[in-house]
Amino acid sequence: MSHIAFIGLGNMGSGMAANLAKAGHTVHAFDLSPEAVKRAEAAGARGVDSAATAVANAEAVVTMLPAGKHVRAVYENEIFPNAKPGTLMMDCSTIDVATARSVGEAAAEKGFHFVDAPVSGGVAAAEGGTLTFMVGGPEAAFKKAEDYLSKMGKAVIHAGDAGTGQAAKICNNMLLAIHMIGTCEAFALADKLGLDRQKFFDIASKASGQNWSLTSYCPVPGPLPTSAANRDYTPGFATAMMLKDLKLAMDAAATAGASTPLGAQAEALYAMFDGLGGREKDFSGIFKMIDGSWRG
Ligand code: NAD
Repeated sequence: MSHIAFIGLGNMGSGMAANLAKAGHTVHAFDLSPEAVKRAEAAGARGVDSAATAVANAEAVVTMLPAGKHVRAVYENEIFPNAKPGTLMMDCSTIDVATARSVGEAAAEKGFHFVDAPVSGGVAAAEGGTLTFMVGGPEAAFKKAEDYLSKMGKAVIHAGDAGTGQAAKICNNMLLAIHMIGTCEAFALADKLGLDRQKFFDIASKASGQNWSLTSYCPVPGPLPTSAANRDYTPGFATAMMLKDLKLAMDAAATAGASTPLGAQAEALYAMFDGLGGREKDFSGIFKMIDGSWRG
């Protein structure tokens, strides 16, 4: 069993660190929030007072931080100067592709193994160890990372070279936003045409309109008892998070010269829902903006 440094013990990181500890690893846990460190200790980790201390004797490092600027700062200032040569580094945060690539290149130059390994799945999947990891980085680094990541997830998929884990994440979430909005529009139109929601669900689920937003995350209450629509759109996956991922996707599209008109529309619609007060609601709550029943 290994010594693992875990940095960033927020909504996602706390459950992930707990699962590594449960698997028998010694987890040296750090977060800027002392309360988060205390929670990690209660879940079996050893709390430490800095990222530098966490990485000093670790064979592997996991980071789960808010955005690219945090990732760059923590790696450049804390992790690279203090980690042992040959340490495996796994950044599971969702960040921009360019930062993921440049941190990965800097790690390789210094003789470390680095993968970008963002996740699909929310807080429940982080706690339950059922995340999906999309991993970018050299084959050798992926092979080393797979064992650790599988203790926190149900699927670990190698996407390609450095940055392709982040690319997979934002392409997937752009597609998710687009089919969620399309599904909401279809239900809103069905309502106006006097078509019963359950009937439309039963038919479209078996017809060519079938998609994940319809059959696994239905945005109207009723047809799927587990969906967020049945609990007043309590997340789940918050609108703020979806908007973050869409902004990353649109920035990447602009940099790469890709044409993504529906992605741009989806970003504009989620920004509108955010502005109307939907930020903390589940992203499927955009149904209420589309059908005109949103009251903030
Ligand atoms: P969060 O804000 O709850 O947690 C981030 C943690 O990082 C906080 O506890 C914060 O104190 C800590 N932190 C920030 N700067 C730090 C530093 N310099 N050193 C140490 N700790 C630092 O966010 P989250 O919901 O856990 O999300 C983490 C990442 O996972 C984000 O990139 C997010 O986009 C991604 N993600 C989140 C979800 C979700 O459903 N919450 C799902 C998939 C991916």
